[in-house]
Amino acid sequence: GFTPAQTSQWVDGFIATVERAEPELTDLDRRSGDGDFGTNMTTALRRTRDALVRNPPRDLGDPFETMSTTFLSYSGGTSGPLFGMWFREFAKAARGGEEFGVGELTEATANGLATIQRLGSAKVGDRTMVDAIAPAAEALERARSDGADLAGAVDAALEAAQRGAKGTSELLGRKGRSSYVGEAALGAADPGALTIALFFQAARVVVG
Ligand code: ADP
Ligand code: MG
Ligand code: MG
Repeated sequence: GFTPAQTSQWVDGFIATVERAEPELTDLDRRSGDGDFGTNMTTALRRTRDALVRNPPRDLGDPFETMSTTFLSYSGGTSGPLFGMWFREFAKAARGGEEFGVGELTEATANGLATIQRLGSAKVGDRTMVDAIAPAAEALERARSDGADLAGAVDAALEAAQRGAKGTSELLGRKGRSSYVGEAALGAADPGALTIALFFQAARVVVG
């Protein structure tokens, strides 16, 4: 499983990846919403980085905890609190443990999905981050019951999340601002779903 140094690398890598993707994420939200998604993300992520410098992570869950708290406290937009709750489930699954393995990853993803659906009531197919999270959660359950190792599980989750995120470009929005945009959003993927795929991609980089 991931060691504390590796969960830290995972979060640092995620921050850097999203910062690089900011123009693309902004463009996608411009086509399907109000165009602030990239700014909302980079603002919270910059604050996360500052908080991690001020309070260096000491255990497995600290990087997720810091990111969660930051997203819950400083985010404009619908996605901020939802990501805050998502990262909170990663912190919870990691808390007190020595390593973040397949079990923790599967549990955090399943609980993250449940929490986001409870708060936002989006179903699969509504064109939200749920369209990336739900297939990733399924892929992880399958990987866990097949006895996959961490690299295999992360690969399966990444592939499922990427496919789900890509598929949102063919969906009409039924939740959030994209539901006001209708057919104009077709062809553009949902930025929240894409960000979930970037989160698993950052984990993939650390697994090596
Ligand atoms: P806003 O629409 O308030 O500007 P953001 O731009 O911060 O919000 O975030 C938009 C993202 O939020 C979308 O790409 C989508 O993935 C996600 N989202 C919106 N509504 C929901 C919901 N009800 N459940 C889950 N995710 C949602
Ligand atoms: Mg927006
Ligand atoms: Mg907004």
